[in-house]
Amino acid sequence: MKHNFGAGPCILPQEVFKQASQGVLNFNDTGLSILEISHRAPEFIAVMDEAISLVKELLNVPTGYSVLFLQGGASLQFAMVAMNLLEEGQTAAYLETGMWAKKALAEAKIFGNVNVVASSKDANFNYIPKNYSIPKDSAYFHCTSNNTIFGTQLHNFPASPVPVACDMSSDIFSRSINVADFGLIYAGAQKNIGPAGATLVIVKDEILGKVTRQIPSMLNYKTQIEGESMYNTPPVFSVFVSLLNLRWLKSKGGIAVIEQENEAKAKALYTEIDRNPLFKGTTTVEDRSNMSVCFVMENPDHEKAFLKLAEDKGCVGIKGHRSVGGFRASLYNALPITSVHVLIEAMQEFQEKN
Ligand SMILES: *Cc1c(COP(=O)(O)O)cnc(C)c1O
Repeated sequence: MKHNFGAGPCILPQEVFKQASQGVLNFNDTGLSILEISHRAPEFIAVMDEAISLVKELLNVPTGYSVLFLQGGASLQFAMVAMNLLEEGQTAAYLETGMWAKKALAEAKIFGNVNVVASSKDANFNYIPKNYSIPKDSAYFHCTSNNTIFGTQLHNFPASPVPVACDMSSDIFSRSINVADFGLIYAGAQKNIGPAGATLVIVKDEILGKVTRQIPSMLNYKTQIEGESMYNTPPVFSVFVSLLNLRWLKSKGGIAVIEQENEAKAKALYTEIDRNPLFKGTTTVEDRSNMSVCFVMENPDHEKAFLKLAEDKGCVGIKGHRSVGGFRASLYNALPITSVHVLIEAMQEFQEKN
């Protein structure tokens, strides 16, 4: 049995994989594959409608917000956010907490000015900056809720005088959030929502339509809202499997239940990292992520042998990102706590042998 700690694309529930493969062969007893029916067919429109209403239900999305399934990944949102919200000559505030935040602000610079209100790059992004202020005349404030590569997470979002745009790619649906605190939320699907290919956007309608530049139709949130995420052919398979995964999440009891499970998984692993003298965490304790657990070994020469031992026990995807080194265990929603226990056993066994 494999224990998939990969950072993304990542583990989804086994039952979702089974239902997805059934849908490829014979979707809802139509005698047709989900891959061959028209996206304008009532059967697919029902898939899109249910996926959007489950997003609204699970996250308690208030009225006045639109939910979209788009394409291009979170990386296209780096540009789309600025293209739609940042008037030329205006300034947007960015919190620089890692590689993804850097990429987001680099794209925004194409469209206007960027003010980096705080950064943790002085310490290889191993903490979340606090006590910065967001100027009132900013077009918006952008942050990354979970820093997938560096293993830090915003456990509290700053009070902002301007709309908050947040990249939630690696922790959406893992914990409760108050959508009303945000102007725009986006996430690539492939880490907690579904397969790669769809991008979830939740946007407050009233923040749109304020820039004067011409925006290409596909990149304009307004076109996508009017087209109900079907201005062009949507990523039908990715939306379908996202729906199956959101149904799974709802049947488990929703965000409140998964959040507790996620906290328990992270707590178990950090407890072992702190207890075991051979390992150490890479981030400040208060900013540790419950989704992306980064750790290294006191003696880096041990890392190859530990990786081998963990792999022999079925743990895959734990090699750290090259910018941090060591290990990264991604504890996404579908990863059972039993898998975390297997990794912990590997750490304990390695300690006994060394
Ligand atoms: C994975 C990830 C991205 C990149 O997502 P794509 O959909 O591949 O563009 C962006 N931001 C964060 C926080 C991520 O974890």
